Amino acid sequence: MLSKEKLREDFSKDYKRFYEVELFKELGFERKKCSCGKYFWSLEKENCGDPDEHGTEYSFFKKQPEKVTFDEMWKKFSDFFKKRGHEEISRYPVVSRWRPDLYFTIASIQDFQRIEKGVMDFEYPANPLIVPQVCLRFNDIPHVGFTGRHLTSFVMAGQHSFNWPKEGYWREETIRLDYEFLTKELGIKKEDITFIEDVWAMSDFSEFGACLEAFSNGLEIVNAVFTEFSYFNEIKELPKKVVDVGWGFERVVWFKNGTLSLFESIFPNTLKKLNVSFDKELYETFARKASTLGEEARIDAKTLSKLLNREEKEIEEGLMPLLSSFVVLDHIRTLLFAISDGALPSNVGGGYNLRLLLRRAFALAYRYGFDIYDLIPRVAEESKLFSELKENEEEARKIFEIEEKRYNQTIKNAQKKLGEILAKGSLTKDEIKTLYQSHGISLEMIEEEAKKRNIQIQLPTYEEIIQANEVEKEKEEVYDVPNIETKILCYTSSRARAKVIFSKGNMLVLDQTPFYPEGGGQESDRGEIFNEQKRAKVLDVKKQGSTVIHFLDKNPFKENEEVECVVDEERRKRLRVHHTATHLISTSCRKILGKHAWQEGTLKSFDKAHIDIAHFDKLSEEEVKKIEKLANEFVRKGLSVKAKEMDRKEAEEKYGFVIYQGHGVPSKKLRIIIIGDEDNPVDAEACGGLHVSNTSEIGIIKIISTERPHDGIVRINFVAGEAAIDYFEKLNARAKKISALLNVSEEKTEDEVKRIIEEKIEREKQIKKEKKEIAEEIAKIIINEVKDKEKEILELDFDKEILREIGNQIVKEKKELCLILKNKKNEVICICGKESKFNAIEELKKISGFVGGGKEKYAEGIIKGGKNA
Ligand SMILES: [Zn+2]
Ligand SMILES: [Zn+2]
Repeated sequence: MLSKEKLREDFSKDYKRFYEVELFKELGFERKKCSCGKYFWSLEKENCGDPDEHGTEYSFFKKQPEKVTFDEMWKKFSDFFKKRGHEEISRYPVVSRWRPDLYFTIASIQDFQRIEKGVMDFEYPANPLIVPQVCLRFNDIPHVGFTGRHLTSFVMAGQHSFNWPKEGYWREETIRLDYEFLTKELGIKKEDITFIEDVWAMSDFSEFGACLEAFSNGLEIVNAVFTEFSYFNEIKELPKKVVDVGWGFERVVWFKNGTLSLFESIFPNTLKKLNVSFDKELYETFARKASTLGEEARIDAKTLSKLLNREEKEIEEGLMPLLSSFVVLDHIRTLLFAISDGALPSNVGGGYNLRLLLRRAFALAYRYGFDIYDLIPRVAEESKLFSELKENEEEARKIFEIEEKRYNQTIKNAQKKLGEILAKGSLTKDEIKTLYQSHGISLEMIEEEAKKRNIQIQLPTYEEIIQANEVEKEKEEVYDVPNIETKILCYTSSRARAKVIFSKGNMLVLDQTPFYPEGGGQESDRGEIFNEQKRAKVLDVKKQGSTVIHFLDKNPFKENEEVECVVDEERRKRLRVHHTATHLISTSCRKILGKHAWQEGTLKSFDKAHIDIAHFDKLSEEEVKKIEKLANEFVRKGLSVKAKEMDRKEAEEKYGFVIYQGHGVPSKKLRIIIIGDEDNPVDAEACGGLHVSNTSEIGIIKIISTERPHDGIVRINFVAGEAAIDYFEKLNARAKKISALLNVSEEKTEDEVKRIIEEKIEREKQIKKEKKEIAEEIAKIIINEVKDKEKEILELDFDKEILREIGNQIVKEKKELCLILKNKKNEVICICGKESKFNAIEELKKISGFVGGGKEKYAEGIIKGGKNA
């Protein structure tokens, strides 16, 4: 297996090939081995300047900081690279829909990565190019606000050149461009730059290469990666080599301005408005040393008190409020980006990390008195380059409000739960994890409550609780069939002759098939396969790789036999109708609920269908009505439904990433289903299913119900076409049956049912009253009998409810009495008065065969194998 260490060693040995550039020689940069083990290039530096290794302090702060805004700096950057042959493109979404294996975009190169049959490929709209790509990274949560340089959302200014050596540029030109920007635009002196040799690799080594990281004054500003290898079973050179330069753009802005913190450069107006008080001298000392905190797994006042050699209390008062405001601003911006791009906080997958951030922001805002809702528009305003944040501000506010309500509810429930657990005086790390993950109790809250009780705890690190960015794959059943490509005819026909390629058990593989294999939530076709002598029913059809497997009721066929395949057309028609209706509901949801309403899963079967939509709340009746109405309008308009083969790149550019509904793996050629006008469609999605050719064929769509299968998802159950008629008929039949049972006309059933229910309620009230009266009578008698006894066992032939009532009446007066009551069914209760010295559950446990439960004052159960009285 490969390792980064091994690669580093190999590349180092061959440094002339992997790291050396002519520019270094021209500048007089020398290659040295650092005390930390890494090799680096510089004019005269003693060490590589990586603060994580050498504690190098930040030393680029200016006495009079400049006031270059984020947008102005982007303009400088963009002009610089455009002048040098680059095209600027717009950012891609932070939700990585084109990469179904990942939740969020974590690097600019991800924009251009497309997985093709398990192998990485690159697709690029221009070459070379720059892109202000917003990336979300949750593994830096503990560092945000403290180290100065870490953020959960940041702009990676991607500088990319593709397809070397056929196009673009490579190492020499990359380093020349970067050096020029660092010295000319950021004004760094050449003696203040070091280039550290390193290796960059995807976690699975599907692509990797050498990289040169540029550091100056304690800050890494840019990393130039030269991706030239790929590893699956062996190391291979990539056919398209890629220059992957990532500029930490907020760092660029920070370095240019020379403020004490990155946040002062990014959110100057918001911070001025917030006006948090802090200890100026302490902050200045801290800001320089903040560079060294990058390796800490958890940072709090204690960490800083050690770093600065000051009292924890001073840190708490003089630093923490300011640093916490940085954290809150960072988290708000991350949520704004995520929500704008259609991601929602939830308790699963990527949404889990978003909720973690949001709750952390609320917790800090409550503690230090920040108004989150006042900050949302300010943060959006200071991120002007991304106007979408302003556009989606209202939607974000709504989601923040709903999430805050949920959070407060959690706190209410949690405080009790947490109190109970802490009462035992200790709390393990695993218990904390459970409290966090299953009960939504934030680490900050656990810490605070433990502190109040003086309990020492060890909190898990954020690394231990965040959700990894890789989407977990569901395990699929693997069938033992050869990997043969089956020609699929289902899009054009429902009948075909075919040759048997493989036959085993009830599985049959043909050279071609008209049967639709289950996929994209659509159930498979059914039908028959036969020839002159033999006949079998098709029960299911699945696709494994590019092989279609037919599952038969019995399998009389041998390899090389010719067969006839006939699909059940009635069933297929229903699947087509349900499938196309799903597209219409999906697009209606996005139009009515908002852009976040992505399709998360579907089922299209013979008699019903459902679609799962990302949404932050239950659907109101009104919303359901609106969605249904709009979908039916599309039906009645008689819109054409076309399937068009398109290049992925063309489809993405024309229709946007909205084509990736559901979680299909996009391939180079996409089958785009276009409903309505091709240039301005009602819906356009990449989809491999079967559809009708005109929406009018759907007839009608009826939403039956909605539910929330889990947090952040709404399921809409519906029927369409023939299935809808079946559904109405069923409803009609049921109504008729009910009216017959009630023996009234259909119009009167409602009133009749109401009357019966009222009668029942009245009767129950009466019974309860009578039971109480009986209990009171009996209690009076017993009270006289027990006198001053402390314990009494009685057998009474009443149900448990009456026994309880009797008991209650008695101990109300006989406060020192412990009373055990048993009936003929061997049900038993024990009830103790306020001053009784007995324990109810302990008393019952003494009876052999007792099964049940309870507490000190009341317990109940049955006596198994107990003799009747
Ligand atoms: Zn070093
Ligand atoms: Zn479809």
